[in-house]
Amino acid sequence: MSEQKESPRHKVRRVSRRSFIAGAGLGAAGMWAASRGLERLGDDPARPPELYEYFVDNFWFKSAGLENQAINAPLKGHHQADIVIIGGGFTGLASAYHLSELMPGKKIVLLEGACCGYGASGRNGGFCDPGLPGLMEYAASAGLEAGRRAFEASTFGIAQIKQMISEHGLSCDFEENGMIEAAITEEQAASLEEEQKVYSGLGIKSTMFTGNALKEAINSPRYIAALAIPNGAILNPAKLARGMKPIVENRGVEVRERTVVLRVHPGKIHRIETEMGDITAPALVLGLDGYAPGLGFFRNHVMPMSSYVIATEPLSPAQWQSIGWSKRWGLSDIRLLFDYLRPTVDGRIVIGGSDYPCYAHDALSSGNNKPVIELLTQSLFTTFPQLEGLRIDHAWGGTMGISRDYTPSVGVMGEYKNIYYGVAYNGEGVAFAQIAGRIIAELMSGEHSALTELFVVNHPIPYMGPENLRFLLSEAYKTFLKWTNGKKVK
Ligand SMILES: Cc1cc2nc3c(=O)[nH]c(=O)nc-3n(C[C@H](O)[C@H](O)[C@H](O)COP(=O)(O)OP(=O)(O)OC[C@H]3O[C@@H](n4cnc5c(N)ncnc54)[C@H](O)[C@@H]3O)c2cc1C
Repeated sequence: MSEQKESPRHKVRRVSRRSFIAGAGLGAAGMWAASRGLERLGDDPARPPELYEYFVDNFWFKSAGLENQAINAPLKGHHQADIVIIGGGFTGLASAYHLSELMPGKKIVLLEGACCGYGASGRNGGFCDPGLPGLMEYAASAGLEAGRRAFEASTFGIAQIKQMISEHGLSCDFEENGMIEAAITEEQAASLEEEQKVYSGLGIKSTMFTGNALKEAINSPRYIAALAIPNGAILNPAKLARGMKPIVENRGVEVRERTVVLRVHPGKIHRIETEMGDITAPALVLGLDGYAPGLGFFRNHVMPMSSYVIATEPLSPAQWQSIGWSKRWGLSDIRLLFDYLRPTVDGRIVIGGSDYPCYAHDALSSGNNKPVIELLTQSLFTTFPQLEGLRIDHAWGGTMGISRDYTPSVGVMGEYKNIYYGVAYNGEGVAFAQIAGRIIAELMSGEHSALTELFVVNHPIPYMGPENLRFLLSEAYKTFLKWTNGKKVK
């Protein structure tokens, strides 16, 4: 794929991502007619017809030993609870963790359609980003001092994961090595300089690498500059999700897996219908992110977007030496359709990104997508030609929730103000879902902290435009990007 130049309007990667999303939703009004007759355009022959794929070749699932783990029995018959949580990803599990602490004695039941960690939480890149999604935009509008306070509050996310590791013996290959962002073009290098200023204003130390220092740090002919920060970690996300399951169970939460929720009947007492039963509760938590529109929540406000990932075979020590990267940072470039790369504990490279398809009718990602996997493979060898010929052992994908303003929302809604939710993490939910779970528990229990003051609390999610049109526009926008960038980039 041709290199893509970052839009000069946008100074930092996060804002670039926002421009991509905004582009996807541009011109929605008035083009409704164009959304007609698009059904076939959105068809992906690789996409399975149902919510769950029959087979996902996910390295994280494999390394977490998922195939040998017990999956809990589904909910059958009629039940009652004080709190029902839908979704066994990081949001659902973190909500369960904090609710069981702040509201002891409440009967909490978590319903997961497949198994805990089956969604984005068990499939992602495992980047545990510092800060929170939307922070840069918030700092730009509210000022650096407010941004710094939000950043400090957000350190809760990574701290919470560390606490579960130390207190509960959770094992998730957590490595707090920091993050590095790389520039491919001069314009992107200038963007990194701007970003460094913002980091400094937020109180985050950063180091710029160029020339020989860059070659030693990351030996890639593709990069011309890179900016590293000591904050942030990488981990095995499936191990984190699967490890959180017994922790919340030990705190008394009833976890029901293989329990697909078919319908929610909201009310003062909610009734949640599942495939084999139903359950009522006065409080409901939605931990669904990109799956939320599928259950009828946040439709046309949260858009399911897919990201695909590959894992190489383990590199030899000589291969690792040839590419530098001894600091084992989480590495990403800052193109609009950026790549994210990270090492694994057994010496592989996991790389995701390159393209972020949306499917018509808000459909979920397929377990795999051959053209994107090919793009990722090419991209890996463009970044590290030294590794040409390296085998790709695994390839998979997942669905994340995207919003037009790139800002998540965590809050409470409904006629009786008893539906709690966290959605639209915009591809940065590993650390943030821990924060969201705590916010949900604090909102429900009436506690107040710096977290309930965060700008994401009850943040209104802007309208995205109708489903079919969004799909068409996002495809058109990506084609436009590839076309213009192909011209401009050397
Ligand atoms: C490929 C990929 C790479 C990513 N990389 C990163 C990264 O490196 N760093 C980062 O911070 N973020 C990353 N993200 C985003 C991050 O993974 C998500 O923001 C986060 O995991 C969302 O957690 P969640 O619990 O809210 O949702 P999910 O993990 O998606 O969980 C939702 C759960 O709900 C279940 N469910 C859905 N519908 C139903 C139903 N009807 N009934 C019952 N259960 C249902 C699903 O099975 C699923 O388990 C990535 C996402 C993807 C897809």
